[in-house]
Order: sequence, then structure tokens, then C-alpha cells
Amino acid sequence: MFRASVREFAEGELRPRVESMDEHAKLDPQLIKQCFSLGLMGIETPEEYGGAGAPFFNAILAVEELSRVDASVGVLVDVQNTLVNNALIRWGSPEQKQRYLTRLAGESVGAYALSEAGSGSDAFAMQTRAVDKGDFYLLNGQKLWITNGIEAEVFILFANANPEAGYRGITSFIIEKGFPGFAIGKKENKLGIRASSTVELILEDCQVPKENVLGEAGKGYKISIETLNEGRIGIGAQMIGIAQGALESVLAYTAERQQFGKPINQFQAVQFQLAEMATDLETARLLVYNAARMKDAGINFVKEAAMAKLHSSRVAERVTSKAIELYGGYGYVKDYPVEKYWRDSKIGAIYEGTSNMQLQTIAKLITK
Ligand SMILES: Cc1cc2nc3c(=O)[nH]c(=O)nc-3n(C[C@H](O)[C@H](O)[C@H](O)COP(=O)(O)OP(=O)(O)OC[C@H]3O[C@@H](n4cnc5c(N)ncnc54)[C@H](O)[C@@H]3O)c2cc1C
Repeated sequence: MFRASVREFAEGELRPRVESMDEHAKLDPQLIKQCFSLGLMGIETPEEYGGAGAPFFNAILAVEELSRVDASVGVLVDVQNTLVNNALIRWGSPEQKQRYLTRLAGESVGAYALSEAGSGSDAFAMQTRAVDKGDFYLLNGQKLWITNGIEAEVFILFANANPEAGYRGITSFIIEKGFPGFAIGKKENKLGIRASSTVELILEDCQVPKENVLGEAGKGYKISIETLNEGRIGIGAQMIGIAQGALESVLAYTAERQQFGKPINQFQAVQFQLAEMATDLETARLLVYNAARMKDAGINFVKEAAMAKLHSSRVAERVTSKAIELYGGYGYVKDYPVEKYWRDSKIGAIYEGTSNMQLQTIAKLITK
């Protein structure tokens, strides 16, 4: 029922806006409001904070169904649930939960700011610094590539408060858009997920009250590792949604398009490619669902999450690329949806840990 209700929203409200949002590189604010009113922005958030109190698996279903129509709205909901809310649910104090989870479930978009220009895969080499000033911290530095940055009002942001201690100085802060010294910088003009905003954040003597440290000072590295482990399953869901959307489009198109006097899906060579795509997608979906179920069951899921993201991003790229070929010339133009699915699929191999980083995690865990 939950899946069906998200699909209905995606088909009815999202589908008609996809092309224009991609072209203008902007999410329709009306859609964001609807995501809140449908409860999609606080799926796991406990009911006492205005959320749905649902399992992680529901967040995965929502991201998949939204991404089947538009992966930009998919990632809006994904970051909100699997990174921002997740970090607050796990590490927030009762006051922080009351103040921020409630807002994030009802009206405020959140963002998650770890990466910098010089530190992506090597995230703990961050240069953003936090200096303890008694009642508050002063933060200086820049973050790059921050999803939801234009729309967000609440940011989970990482800075090093004790560089001598190396990664053990990394501290997680809850930052509100209006804090003095906090500003939004350049917005990226991207290949795919164009409607999802990706921005630079600038911190110039940004004053953050002590009570806005999330978890313990110096434990930010743990928060980032553990939230991203879960987040990866969400990216897997985004990727299977993209592949599902492309597969459905190409199944319909190949049934209609006639060459040599018959629908092209009557040619065995085309049928076999469709069968390969469907099988590929099924393997990815099973990996993503399995990792999500392990997470909900409290079983260690780190390896499975890395495998799910690695594999589903590859599958999404393969399926969407093949979909373009099966559309022929029509696949290469913006009048049809498949070129966008392909552009949107590429990010799966990059954010929340590149494919090499997933391979490194998997290798470490199977050889230890
Ligand atoms: C659209 C978009 C949205 C994003 N959203 C967010 C966000 O919301 N919040 C956030 O914090 N970040 C975000 N990011 C940043 C993203 O997580 C990083 O881009 C990613 O982690 C890779 O870092 P990098 O770009 O610095 O690449 P690099 O780390 O420089 O990697 C470049 C290449 O080198 C390879 N490489 C690096 N180190 C190794 C190694 N040790 N072994 C083998 N290969 C290696 C990588 O696999 C990659 O192929 C986003 C990025 C994009 C493009």
C-alpha cells in the first residue's frame, strides 16, 4: 500500500513536471511541500516528532518509486531520510530531536555536508575547522557538492575541532541556514539529477552554539561512516528505481515501434536484450532489499550495502544505456525519457563513496 501511494504521487504529480525541472535545474517547490504532506520527509522519524515511525525499508521503497519517475526527487527524499534524519535519530539529544526532527518531518529540508574540494574519497582529510570558544564553536572552511543545499534549512556538517588528533578531531554540527557566518556558494550545473541542487557551502567565522554539536565532540568520523553505510542502500534504491523506469519505457516502446513490418520486440535479439536488462535489474533489487532488510533486522549490513550500491549503480548504467540503443535515434533526444535516465544513473558510481571505495570496503571485509 505504501509503495502504491508513492507511485500514485510520482505518476500524478511528479511525472508531468520532470522534463521542465530537468531543463531548468530546479525542483518545483510545490512538489517539496507535497513530499512533506505525504510523510515522505520523515519516514523513520518517530511519531512523537511528527514522523511516520516506519521501518528503513519504507524509505527504500519511497526512494525507488520516486526515482522510477525522477531521481532528483528520489535523492531529495533519500538524503533527508537516510542521512539527515538518520543521524539525528541515532545521535541527537532529546532537545535536538524535539527541535530538528520535528521541523525536518514537517517543513524543513535537510542536507548533509561532508565533502570538500580537496577531500572526497579521503573525507577525513577535511580542512574545515571548528574552534571551541566556550559557549559556541567558530567554524571556518568550505564544503562542496552538497545535495539539497539550495532548499535546505538544516545542515548536518562535519568539521575538525582538533586537527592534532587527526580524524578523531572530526565533530558533527547541526547548522541552521540563518546562523551568522554561514552562506551558500556556487550551484553546480550537472550532467544528471539536474533538478537536485548541488552547492558549495561557505563558513566564515560561522557561530554554532555548543548545544548544536551532534553526538560527542571528536566522534563525527563515526557518525559519518555509520550514516553513509545506511545511505548507500538508499542510493542503491535510487539506482534500481532509475533502471525500472528505463526498462518500463523501453518495454512499451519496443512493443510499439515497427521495423521490417513488425514490432521490434518480436525480434529475438531485442527480446534477449530486454531479458538481460530485466534479470540485471532483479539482481540489483534483491541486493538492495536484502541490505535494507538486514539493517531493519539489526544484522551487520556494511558489506551488503557496499555490494548493493556498487552493483545497482552498474546495473542502472547498463540498463539505461541499452534502453537508449533500443530506442534507436529517438533514444538520443530529449523528446523521450531514456536519455535522462542514463544521465541520472551516472551519479550512482560517484556519491556516497565511489565504486572503487565500495570495492575497497568489500575487499577489506572479505579478506580480514
Ligand atoms: C551530484 C553530487 C552530489 C553530491 N552530494 C554530496 C552531499 O550531499 N554531501 C557530501 O558530503 N558530498 C556529496 N557529494 C560528494 C561525493 O560524495 C564525492 O564526489 C565522492 O565521494 C568522490 O569524491 P571526489 O569527487 O573528491 O573524488 P576523488 O576522491 O578525488 O576520486 C577521484 C577518483 O579516484 C578514485 N580514488 C580515490 N582514492 C582512491 C583509492 N584510495 N583507491 C582507489 N581509487 C581511488 C575514486 O574512486 C575516483 O574514481 C556529491 C557529489 C556529486 C557529484
